[in-house]
Amino acid sequence: MICLHFFHGEGYDKTFIKNLKKIMDLSKKEIVTIASGADDVCKKCIYLKKGRCESSDNADKAIQKMDIKALALMGLSEGDKVKWLEMKDDLSSIFPDWYFQYCTECEWKKTCERDDYFKQLIQQL
Ligand code: SF4
Repeated sequence: MICLHFFHGEGYDKTFIKNLKKIMDLSKKEIVTIASGADDVCKKCIYLKKGRCESSDNADKAIQKMDIKALALMGLSEGDKVKWLEMKDDLSSIFPDWYFQYCTECEWKKTCERDDYFKQLIQQL
């Protein structure tokens, strides 16, 4: 729910990217329901096996921890309904926590760094 705000069309394969683009387009128009665990984004991911992320040995647990942290930072709970673009406005206050815990070691950091808003948030650190 944090990382997707910096999405610009990158992903694991064409199917995943197509699904994610569709979700991102819809999220700008519709109310988003906060989910934890494998969600609509994960559904089309090559690493989702039997409802678990199998991208590495510890991936599923690590992602669950990330989800818990993201929810705590954003003050949200599973099932909450939010406006996606309003969530984006709230990111600036929680970004330092997120960045230093996750972004610094993230394999997708270079793609996020292409996003203007991400660059802006980094400058405020
Ligand atoms: S660098 Fe990684 S952890 Fe940070 S916002 Fe981007 S995808 Fe998420």
